Amino acid sequence: MEKSLKLRKVQLIEFLKSHNIHDQKLLKVMSDIPRELFVDVAYKSQSYENAALPIGSEQTISQPFIVAFMTQELQINDSQKVLEVGTGSGYQAAITASLCKRLFTIERHLPLLKTAEAIFAKLNIFNITTFFGDGMKGWLDQAPFDRIMVTAAAKELPENLLEQLKDGGTLIVPIGKKDEDQYITKFTRKGDHYESQCLMPVKFVPLLSGIVHNS
Ligand code: SAH
Repeated sequence: MEKSLKLRKVQLIEFLKSHNIHDQKLLKVMSDIPRELFVDVAYKSQSYENAALPIGSEQTISQPFIVAFMTQELQINDSQKVLEVGTGSGYQAAITASLCKRLFTIERHLPLLKTAEAIFAKLNIFNITTFFGDGMKGWLDQAPFDRIMVTAAAKELPENLLEQLKDGGTLIVPIGKKDEDQYITKFTRKGDHYESQCLMPVKFVPLLSGIVHNS
């Protein structure tokens, strides 16, 4: 790795620590997974900035702080089965898969999914199962999940996904109709009801229905 990228990575990890990211396993994984592999070569030098970057198909790789925040809030451990909706670059999936037992991830843009799959193989990450489809429906065959994370903004509570949570399980999802009023929201299943907690204002690309073969 170029010296400047290495230095920027150290600085990013320090930034995360100073912004209440304190899970040591998570910090180690964020330091180990090469974010530069998940961004377009044109943005390589910006890989360790705390910024969302374009990944094609009009989508973005999330800010490292948001990836860390959502992962930490989910309290992921190596016995859990986790579902991610919105594979995108695959970066959040690679981080999460390093902390859980099995990760299932769904993407509606085929070219993005193919690129992400190639990176998982390159990094020898074998506990990720991918699916090209509409993640709003969840993954019924694999449900229930201990944890679910949605990395695109839902207009309203995604009921299908809540139903695919185990009792005691947690779902984290940005919810909001417009850019200005999206909030990362956490739901915990308690039997047949859910407790919700509004955590932080954010800007995510929208969760959309249907699939896209070429883009
Ligand atoms: N987790 C990604 C974030 C990518 S941005 C990363 O680490 O890079 C959000 C992604 O959600 C986009 O790739 C978008 O195509 C995808 N998406 C939006 N709606 C979706 C849906 N209904 N099902 C599956 N993926 C969806």
